[in-house]
Amino acid sequence: MGLADDGGLIIPESIPDVSDRLDSWRELSFGSLAFEIIQLFATDIPESDLRELIERTYGSAFEPEPAPTLRVGDLYMLELWHGPTLSFKDIALQLLGNLFEYILARRGGVLNILGATSGDTGSAAIYGVRGRKGIHIFVMHPAGKVSPIQEHQMTSVLDDNVHNISLAGSFDDCQRIMKSLAGDLDFKRKYSLGAVNSVNWARVLAQTVYYFHAAFAVQKDTAAESVRFCVPTGNFGDVLAGWYAKQMGLPISRLILATNENDILSRFFNSGQYSLGEVTHTLSPAMDIQVASNFERYLYYRVGCNADRLRELMDEFARTGSLRIDVSDNGVVDETFIAAAGDKSQCLAAIGKYHEQYDYLLDPHTAVGVAVAESRGLSGDPVICVSTAHGAKFPAAIEQATGKDLAHHPAIDALDGLETRCESLPNDAEAVREFIVKTIG
Ligand SMILES: *Cc1c(COP(=O)(O)O)cnc(C)c1O
Repeated sequence: MGLADDGGLIIPESIPDVSDRLDSWRELSFGSLAFEIIQLFATDIPESDLRELIERTYGSAFEPEPAPTLRVGDLYMLELWHGPTLSFKDIALQLLGNLFEYILARRGGVLNILGATSGDTGSAAIYGVRGRKGIHIFVMHPAGKVSPIQEHQMTSVLDDNVHNISLAGSFDDCQRIMKSLAGDLDFKRKYSLGAVNSVNWARVLAQTVYYFHAAFAVQKDTAAESVRFCVPTGNFGDVLAGWYAKQMGLPISRLILATNENDILSRFFNSGQYSLGEVTHTLSPAMDIQVASNFERYLYYRVGCNADRLRELMDEFARTGSLRIDVSDNGVVDETFIAAAGDKSQCLAAIGKYHEQYDYLLDPHTAVGVAVAESRGLSGDPVICVSTAHGAKFPAAIEQATGKDLAHHPAIDALDGLETRCESLPNDAEAVREFIVKTIG
């Protein structure tokens, strides 16, 4: 659960300080480290169950491991695309699938997940819950408007509990229908409707783990006291996890926040003003957002944990499309964040450069991060770029940048010719409702 009943977002009561434990965690495997961190928050699950569940999540589903860090040129790359759908969203959604199944088995009952996707989230959510007992998942995508690879990744999952819907409308229509069905409280209760969107707290929590894991690896390599992370950002979920890791005592000196042309967040961190613009379609579609759904969590801390002030600001934003916070005399919103936008030409140039100089394939999201990190200068603490997807998911951008057909991965190539299942529905909430009712009986 992410959204509280009053429409706000759920946050932990307190943030544990783990500085005194860092040294004992340095050599842990990803799974063991994940257990140490998550158990500080998941206090309602018996320790042995939680350990088993986490070790299982980060065992076989990730090849060869969930979050390897390697040096490429003057940067470190934290590769988060070794899960089944080749995007960083697998790290959290594989765990979420296991958590849901465990909790449903203990409590009894069922969960019907309804989602809308323009690409990565839908496929990672489907792979997180496919074949799980007590769970059905319905994912709407706008017909003909997600990339063929992403569509195929979703619709080739044939498990009985997975239901893809190709909706004759836009992504906004899918979201509108999702909100209207989830907002019908009787329907929501009767059919146990849930969501796995990016405000789900378990997703943010699961993502804190790789910041620790990567910082330990790079500190071992360089003996640096602290590190910087550069994070290609859309809904502020990934970078927020890094921010929590820093609050917990991980020595992160800076979080370099990279946006594409949809730069609401980079404008905010450079001015204190958070104001809506128009959505621009780019080569990094998972970052094509205007309203960053996790931003409210950060803003709560930034205004001194004053919930009344936060509510005022969010109301103002809902009313006017803009909010502003007070910034210090030197104009700095937050010493931790350095934020900038990388445009299409910088993205393509970074893909080309890393291919030519290092024979390393950047996906267009990661490339935006790399371009922004390089433009800020790399002297000082080591910079770890969070690599959020494998390039094979975005072959057109790779070909545009390099002139070559380089973007391949066995998991993507294997999709070719697979059988698919998908329901085509009109752009109408009632049609989606009927389909759900008919499917789950
Ligand atoms: C979702 C996604 C992002 C953005 O992550 P946020 O948590 O929304 O900031 C970046 N890159 C890829 C490949 C993604 O799928």
